[in-house]
Amino acid sequence: MPTYTAPLDDIRYLLHEVHDIGQLAALPGFEDATPAMIDEVLAGGATFCEDVLFPLNQSGDAEGVHLDHGEVRTPSGFKAAYTRYTADGWTAISAEPTYGGTGLPEMVRFVIEEMLCSANLSFSMYPGLSHGAYSALMSHGSEELKQRFLPKLIDGTWGGTMCLTEAHAGTDLGILTTKAEPAGDGAYRITGQKIFISAGEHDLTENIVHLVLAKLPDAPGGTKGISLFLVPKFLPTEEGGLGTRNGVTCGSVEHKMGIKASATCVLNFDNAIGWLVGEPHKGMRAMFVMMNGARLAVGLQGLGLSEVAYQNALAYAKERLQGRALTGPKNPDGPADAILVHPDVRKGLLRIKALNEGMRSLAYWVGIRIDLEHRHPDAAVRQDAADMVALMTPVLKAFLTDKGFENTNIALQTLGGHGYIREYGIEQYVRDARIAQIYEGTNAVQALDLVGRKLPMDGGRLVRRFFEIVKGDVDTAAAVGGLEDFAKALGGSLYQLQKATMLLAERGFANPDEAGAAASEYLHLMGYVAVGWQWLRMATVSQQRLAAGQGERRFHDAKLKTARFFFARLLPETATLLAAIQSGAAPIMALAVDEF
Ligand SMILES: Cc1cc2nc3c(=O)[nH]c(=O)nc-3n(C[C@H](O)[C@H](O)[C@H](O)COP(=O)(O)OP(=O)(O)OC[C@H]3O[C@@H](n4cnc5c(N)ncnc54)[C@H](O)[C@@H]3O)c2cc1C
Repeated sequence: MPTYTAPLDDIRYLLHEVHDIGQLAALPGFEDATPAMIDEVLAGGATFCEDVLFPLNQSGDAEGVHLDHGEVRTPSGFKAAYTRYTADGWTAISAEPTYGGTGLPEMVRFVIEEMLCSANLSFSMYPGLSHGAYSALMSHGSEELKQRFLPKLIDGTWGGTMCLTEAHAGTDLGILTTKAEPAGDGAYRITGQKIFISAGEHDLTENIVHLVLAKLPDAPGGTKGISLFLVPKFLPTEEGGLGTRNGVTCGSVEHKMGIKASATCVLNFDNAIGWLVGEPHKGMRAMFVMMNGARLAVGLQGLGLSEVAYQNALAYAKERLQGRALTGPKNPDGPADAILVHPDVRKGLLRIKALNEGMRSLAYWVGIRIDLEHRHPDAAVRQDAADMVALMTPVLKAFLTDKGFENTNIALQTLGGHGYIREYGIEQYVRDARIAQIYEGTNAVQALDLVGRKLPMDGGRLVRRFFEIVKGDVDTAAAVGGLEDFAKALGGSLYQLQKATMLLAERGFANPDEAGAAASEYLHLMGYVAVGWQWLRMATVSQQRLAAGQGERRFHDAKLKTARFFFARLLPETATLLAAIQSGAAPIMALAVDEF
């Protein structure tokens, strides 16, 4: 049976020692969010994830969801867990107090999100989608819509969805055909079919608030003609209760590879009543608020699954006795040594550990920037934070989920055949991790967003600023005794990233295929540099703690050893990525269609 313990030691180290979480309490509205209070909230979240959600993960996977006369039944125990989840206030933690939220920093939700994904990714999808709907409504909804829908989304009585995909319109939303006709009374009538809608129908909440992309009759073609509508399953009464059933029904649920307890639905909208969110034809702008938040959340899914897979693979590797260490028995009284003695097994586990801790640190750095972007009194700080969130969103989404899938696979390999069978739980993590590379815009699309939109933004301001921050930390670390090698390694990879950026600017402008051909490798190159940068920051902190005789020696020693592994064995991958980018588009585009 798998187990999960929330990595609170590492979380506290990052929040308090590396990222100075105390800075958040200085932001207006966050006065109560002291480090001690945040610790307490996170400890509560950890207990909930370990004791309530994790025990439902394997059973939820085995049972799956079922469609019963148009209604979706979630697996046994999900409804009771959701009731506790809402009663304990987890749906409200970072939401606006004006509408009933607790008003804690987004950063806190970020940490909880990782734990939820480790404990039970399928369960996390339901409140995750509701939070996305909350964000889009909060930023683009009319005051009337906010008053009617936000309090119920925040307290979790009602759930939310995002309805973008249609059978013929996945990545290319510009060709979607769902229609919205003005009803004459300020409302609209929505007709069309959406597919693959997560949490599209279920029994956890009494109502579901669908945010639906559709086209008005006078819509221009392409994405510039898309509007966003709020379409509830049940129309609310004037008093805020449940009124009549709206014209939206669940046609079927998908049978799929992973996240089997998350309902993935075909939704049919038949003259359903809805209301416009934001301006006509500007729906993508509103939907992007939801999509950007969701992209970060999906990145955390990759991290969360990688963490729980690591914990279980490590526990197994410490107990499983097979073969002898190459240098002689380490367990001479036993029949064999634990497999953790073998360099190949250690290499796999260290790879996961080094990536997890580095990716977690990067995610938290971005999480704090979200709060600075929303709350800091200085407009320049807000802009700087917004720039970094924008630049890092595709990196977090794609790098963390690509590594998440690779890592769950490595974890499975650690268990040999026992990893492949159900009992140990690891094969579920591999299956569950796969979708995160696909939804919320495939990872290829994230790479195109990074290269095509984020790099050229404002003449390259975002990426230049990122280089400046990393270079500053490289220079600082170079002056710390014992970290010179790490600083040199990261400085080298940063140079490779800068070189790739210049190359893209020159070639991509002349031939867009050059940008398309390089995009995924470029995103991974940036991912390695960003995670390496976080390792340099952690190594700097731990080295200073050790020099000052502060903190737990074993913890900081392990950080430095893991940092050394990262710089020695993982960061050099940037050289291969640069070489692939330099080879250009020609080797990819040369083959004619009939030569494949
Ligand atoms: C379990 C699950 C849950 C989902 N939940 C939701 C949800 O809640 N709401 C929702 O609206 N949708 C949801 N989706 C849909 C999901 O977001 C889409 O599947 C995804 O965006 C890709 O679209 P597609 O499947 O049509 O693939 P396509 O767009 O057909 O892409 C196929 C392949 O071509 C590549 N490709 C396509 N266009 C380009 C391009 N321009 N450049 C480079 N490569 C390209 C893609 O990267 C991909 O590898 C979900 C899907 C699944 C499987």
